[in-house]
Amino acid sequence: MAETVVSPLPNEAHHAWMTHGDCRSKTRVFFAPHAERPQARARREAKARQICQSCPVLAECRTYARVNREYGFWGGESEEERALAGYAVPWPVGVNRRRQQAALTVLR
Ligand code: SF4
Repeated sequence: MAETVVSPLPNEAHHAWMTHGDCRSKTRVFFAPHAERPQARARREAKARQICQSCPVLAECRTYARVNREYGFWGGESEEERALAGYAVPWPVGVNRRRQQAALTVLR
């Protein structure tokens, strides 16, 4: 029986640009590890920004990340920069923790 391969992307033709990104195999530079400190985040994002500057698909990547409200560093922009441009992620990093702390404060 032939194995069916299902693409994780909704429409591969619209995402062909992803195969041309300069960030391929550099995932750790573009997505935060658990409990990343602000200074480490600044250093990591500076490296990502440098890689993006010369990427041939920067415009496509930025648009994709904005429209899809992606997490991480995409198209030369951090999550915070996308949020300032009007494309905030649904659950920014740290929101759950702050909500838990606020709920605990109310209960005390
Ligand atoms: S612009 Fe940056 S994040 Fe987007 S594909 Fe290029 S290197 Fe990767």
